[in-house]
Amino acid sequence: MPPSQTQAIHIIGGGLAGSEAAWQIAVAGVPVVLHEMRPTRSTAAHRTDGLAELVCSNSLRSDDRQTNAVGLLHEEMRRLGSLVMRAADGNQVPAGGALAVDRDGFSNAVTHALTTHPLIEIRREEVALPPSDWDSVIVATGPLTSPALAEAIGQITGENALAFFDAIAPIVHRDSIDMSVAWFQSRYDKAGPGGTGADYINCPMDRVQYEAFVAALVAGDKVSFHEWEKSTPYFDGCLPIEVMAERGPETLRHGPMKPFGLTNPNNPQEKSYAVVQLRQDNKLGTLFNMVGFQTKLKHGEQTRIFRTIPGLERAEFARLGGLHRNTFLNAPKLLDNRLRLVAMPRLRFAGQITGCEGYVESAAIGLLAGRFAAAERRGEPSALPPPTTAHGALLAYITGDHIGTNEPGPNSYQPMNVNLGLFPPLAIVPNKLPDGTRLRGPAKTQAKKRALSARALADLDQWIGSVRLAAE
Ligand SMILES: Cc1cc2nc3c(=O)[nH]c(=O)nc-3n(C[C@H](O)[C@H](O)[C@H](O)COP(=O)(O)OP(=O)(O)OC[C@H]3O[C@@H](n4cnc5c(N)ncnc54)[C@H](O)[C@@H]3O)c2cc1C
Repeated sequence: MPPSQTQAIHIIGGGLAGSEAAWQIAVAGVPVVLHEMRPTRSTAAHRTDGLAELVCSNSLRSDDRQTNAVGLLHEEMRRLGSLVMRAADGNQVPAGGALAVDRDGFSNAVTHALTTHPLIEIRREEVALPPSDWDSVIVATGPLTSPALAEAIGQITGENALAFFDAIAPIVHRDSIDMSVAWFQSRYDKAGPGGTGADYINCPMDRVQYEAFVAALVAGDKVSFHEWEKSTPYFDGCLPIEVMAERGPETLRHGPMKPFGLTNPNNPQEKSYAVVQLRQDNKLGTLFNMVGFQTKLKHGEQTRIFRTIPGLERAEFARLGGLHRNTFLNAPKLLDNRLRLVAMPRLRFAGQITGCEGYVESAAIGLLAGRFAAAERRGEPSALPPPTTAHGALLAYITGDHIGTNEPGPNSYQPMNVNLGLFPPLAIVPNKLPDGTRLRGPAKTQAKKRALSARALADLDQWIGSVRLAAE
């Protein structure tokens, strides 16, 4: 390789994303310097100096590649030579259908692979500002990015581009909403910029339903903040729904659940006492978020209580709500489709700081960032993963498919787990078994999931083949 192609790529942060990115770059034959601040400086959640430390659960979630999006992501990562998946598979502990690991064994395996690779140098130091002579940098500093670097990134990206807390409202699969009860309409039929006047899905409540709902929110079990999260500010416009409910029985009816300017075509004679609104969340129109429903209710409670909303009785949630200390960019606005900062393309971002959520998703985005950076350094083309794959669907969400809003309150772009709602719908949805029996209910849903996964793996294999050919 010419000398310009042997210059090292710098990675800041040796967590799930940074470790995977380093591996992918080194395997492509390009030198890497990985800067990890632990143990010199730690975060509020990390406990060791190991690379790829799992800060909480030891589970990488479902390993079912046929019907579960995260299981599919595992399989795609395996096929892409992921170090994180190799370390996970080698340190598995019994956990039913989930892939759980011995956390120390897992982290040790990643650390050993990276420290012994001849093209990887590990420097234990905090980077407060990437020096200007680093021409290719991957920032993978995670939800607990050190304050000095966060401030530098904030200055580069501009005001409001970097969030320090998330305020996550649940997201529902569009096809699980009962449209014989709910209806499409924007308040007062206002079209607004880019709207149609019928942009929201509305779920009506009468007085009895509303009062029971408010009581359930107040009584529901909530998750408490970690000690170091207790200063999490409740911004105006992003109060948890249950905190609003606690302020008085009418608060929600005059806030996110106000019924004004909406007429229920399914029951035009009766005025709704309150209305829950859902807004389209991705360009595909497969996901809708519950407007104003950020919450600290426990996940089981969210499912139980939110399914009492008329029209959402059978809701399938692509994401449940939450509120945490986090650090993430408004990625759809700031990053190009290869994860580079548009305003400063020598900086690339990976992991949770891009707005994906979870160990596996962070590692997967690290994998892509590493491959993009290595291809760029080698002067090779880097085709994007097809949007029908788990990697492609997640990347598309981060770098453009989320639909933003101009409303006050928290940024509408909020952290996202991989889920099948991010995938383009199937051209033909399977509705029969090979013997001709019609599929119904859960069997039909399972068949659809299997078809999405099979399409993803076939398209991934084709992509891997085409990338290999381009590199030869
Ligand atoms: C308290 C908590 C609990 C969580 N629980 C779960 C869970 O159970 N399951 C799940 O899937 N996800 C969980 N997550 C999310 C999880 O952290 C992320 O999904 C994942 O670890 C993110 O990977 P990452 O590589 O982006 O960041 P991290 O894994 O956090 O890695 C970032 C690395 O960057 C280093 N660093 C930060 N700033 C600098 C700097 N300036 N210079 C050099 N190094 C720096 C840090 O020390 C760290 O090693 C949790 C997050 C938190 C905060």
